[in-house]
Amino acid sequence: MDVPTYTPEDAAVPEGEVVVERSTTAQDLGPKLNRTAADVVRFLMQQGEMVTATQSLSDDMIELFAAEIGAEVRLVDPGEEQEIELLALLEVAEPEYEDAPIRPPVVTVMGHVDHGKTTLLDRIRDANVVDGEAGGITQHIGAYQVEQDGNAVTFIDTPGHAAFTAMRARGADATDIVVLVVAADDGVMPQTIEAINHARAADVPIVVAVNKVDRDNAEPQRVLTQLAEHELVPEAWGGETVTVEVSALQGLGIEDLIENLSVIAEVEDLRADPEGRAQGVVLESHLDVGRGSVATILVQSGTLKVGDPLVAGAAWGRVRALIDDHGRQVKEAGPSTPVEVLGLSDVAEAGDRFVVAPNEKVAGRVAEKRSHFKRQANIGRDAHALSSGARLEDIFEQIQKGEAATLNLVVKADVNGSLEAVCESLKRLERDDVKLAFVHRAVGGITENDIQLAGASNATIIGFNVRPDRKAREFAEAEKVEIRTYEVIYQLLEDVESAMVGMLAPEFEEVVTGDAEVREIFSIPRIGKIAGCYVQNGTITRGSKVRFLREGTIIWKGEVRSLRRFKEDVREVQSGYECGIGLSDFQDLKEGDVIETYDERELERT
Ligand code: GDP
Repeated sequence: MDVPTYTPEDAAVPEGEVVVERSTTAQDLGPKLNRTAADVVRFLMQQGEMVTATQSLSDDMIELFAAEIGAEVRLVDPGEEQEIELLALLEVAEPEYEDAPIRPPVVTVMGHVDHGKTTLLDRIRDANVVDGEAGGITQHIGAYQVEQDGNAVTFIDTPGHAAFTAMRARGADATDIVVLVVAADDGVMPQTIEAINHARAADVPIVVAVNKVDRDNAEPQRVLTQLAEHELVPEAWGGETVTVEVSALQGLGIEDLIENLSVIAEVEDLRADPEGRAQGVVLESHLDVGRGSVATILVQSGTLKVGDPLVAGAAWGRVRALIDDHGRQVKEAGPSTPVEVLGLSDVAEAGDRFVVAPNEKVAGRVAEKRSHFKRQANIGRDAHALSSGARLEDIFEQIQKGEAATLNLVVKADVNGSLEAVCESLKRLERDDVKLAFVHRAVGGITENDIQLAGASNATIIGFNVRPDRKAREFAEAEKVEIRTYEVIYQLLEDVESAMVGMLAPEFEEVVTGDAEVREIFSIPRIGKIAGCYVQNGTITRGSKVRFLREGTIIWKGEVRSLRRFKEDVREVQSGYECGIGLSDFQDLKEGDVIETYDERELERT
């Protein structure tokens, strides 16, 4: 076919900046820039991009065309411009801070791996057992609040930079103070510096917890020297940085740390009005089999009440119940309080802002509009990934050819927090010559739809704490779509990094040997729970490795401890038969769960 030649017309281009939505089509773009759809299509064809007038265009294509005709465009996400109208519809007012009462600070813990972030968060949580209450804060809802000498402090319960950056990337600055954990026996390390930079970029004060001072080889003074080199000069040396020596393991210095956080909060003069409709940010959200969509949110102003019509990003609903960090149902939650919200229509995204709407109708309308724009944005991303990009296995080849390579990924994870964390960490692996494109990312098990999408866009599927079901797996084999599943984020990152240097490690494929559906649950005294199952595929063998799945999400791993048919111990049970399965120390069984057994074997790489 002859490619028609494109001749730039002399027609004037619009003056000034033209706002263009990402993933727009030639049909829409042309007239915006005083050109026809055919002009756009013809030009792109000359550039080797075969698109039709109604097909979504990538950012590059839009910019290329604009540059060609000398127009100035500003790309916005679909819905970005309309968001102002939506906020007006919601009658969202900027919160008033002056004259408002003091509120507790919200604290995020960051630092190098193994320096003790998790231990510190656990210790602070444990230390705050209210008198007479059995377990204290037993519920992990993504954040918790502690009180000391009448001052409350809220801690975000997911340590690390990934969550912090993911939130900021979405415009949600939830954190008032960063606690930087530095192990006294290890000193300032690369991730320590990274954390300092993140906190600085967010303009958030840093309190340093010099941890592990109980160790014989602890050198807290050396840590202070190193910090000073990064412009965190300790107070003791006449600087402004508050440093506290702690041992998270032994619970030393914790009170001192919390006291210092309260002092800084006072200096920062953190205020919020508890009156009026609540606003804030979503910290975490997931789909729960029994409870539906569960979101942990942080109220930033106003007071959230049961029965309020809530909009969180593209999700909405009337608040059915509020559950605090002690697992108690509460009627309302004020500023700086983290609570779990039940009753939303959909899974909101970590970092989404939420606001109580004037009424349910407005809430529904705004959420509906946002979902629409979100779908459009996704179509745009797909279009871009489709036009270029490769799978994990081929990426090195593409790099070697000297082409700018793009690795296409479909990412699925168990909860929103881990999804954000995985995507953010992956993004940081990008180099000048290798870009990552997320064709699709979502919470939940790996489905046939994911395979279809990955197949069509030449993408690799990455699953974090989730699995494909049997049908999806078979479909993937047929479509030759690679699925890689992980339960440790470092392994995931290592694999992707190795692929980028052409050294993708042999894959240990876990060959699924059988699966059985839990149909009934029996409690046997002194032994515990036994799952009455129906073997659906393959063979279940005593002693084999088990992944326990609920709606495609791994909730436990272990092995088949006991296997019985009609009260008799048996070695294996074939598909089509019923049996009783006992799992080593796992009791949280529900009807409809799936017990998947597997073997590991090394796969040949071609
Ligand atoms: P994270 O990766 O920063 O979350 O670090 P963890 O909280 O998982 O801690 C890493 C290791 O350091 C664990 O083995 C902890 O038991 C240990 N650890 C944490 N805090 C202390 C401490 O204050 N003293 C000592 N001796 N060990 C600690």
